[in-house]
Amino acid sequence: MTEKVILVTVDLEDWFQVENLRGHFPHSCWETCESRVHASTGALLELFDQHDIKCTFFVLGWIAERYPEIVRQIASQGHEIASHGYGHRLCTGLNRDDLRDDLQKSKELLEGITGQTVAGYRAPSFSVTSELIDLLAETGHRYDSSYNSFGMNSRYGKLEGAWSKTSGKLIQSANGIYEIPVSNLEIAGKVFPWGGGGFFRLYPLWLFCRGVQKILKQQQYYLFYCHPWEFDPGQPRAKGLRPDYRFRHYVGIEDNLNKLDSFLSMFADCTFKTCNAFLKLN
Ligand SMILES: [Zn+2]
Repeated sequence: MTEKVILVTVDLEDWFQVENLRGHFPHSCWETCESRVHASTGALLELFDQHDIKCTFFVLGWIAERYPEIVRQIASQGHEIASHGYGHRLCTGLNRDDLRDDLQKSKELLEGITGQTVAGYRAPSFSVTSELIDLLAETGHRYDSSYNSFGMNSRYGKLEGAWSKTSGKLIQSANGIYEIPVSNLEIAGKVFPWGGGGFFRLYPLWLFCRGVQKILKQQQYYLFYCHPWEFDPGQPRAKGLRPDYRFRHYVGIEDNLNKLDSFLSMFADCTFKTCNAFLKLN
């Protein structure tokens, strides 16, 4: 039987840094917002420890700069530290120099804290561009995990340029950067968002698990993503949010940690790997 691999990934950012809340919490006010990332990350680390799994944390440089102890704790528990960029600005909204600076700053910060090379990157809101893939190679990254094939979210980017499949069926760009896309479910040529985040909170667990089983039959791995704030029901509620943004941010938050616990138990017979280990980069 072929090995079924699950890659659990966490985009490490605070609750007020999310794109849906940007109108209420612009970058200029971040310093004054109540940080809750220690507790919410701690809860996730405890859960991963209970299940004895190793995951990949795409850490925002802004967080690492202020709370290096979180990064050290994650690394000391054997998880991979990767980068979520520095300032959580969409790649599509930055010019080439600013994007390069953002990538470099985060990578250097994280490597300075752990003493280990940062190989991976995930763009805010999956806003991948071909320029990003260029710059990842230029700044010494080895892989990207920013492509989400679900086409209904206007913030998600496209995978352009020349890509090829390696013998291990991995996708690699002409400049050597690997791509590990977020997993989605394909049925009759249609793509359904199945990678985690708000969709994991929204769908009933039985349905979500059924989809993941199907994905694991279709491809060699399943990649799941989440954020610490998705497991923090006590976070401050933004008032006057657009109804669709409010729904996306808060749906299912109350019981999400238990839901993830159940999900991990359901797939306990799978092999959980970090992205680095999956790509055999270390
Ligand atoms: Zn993010």
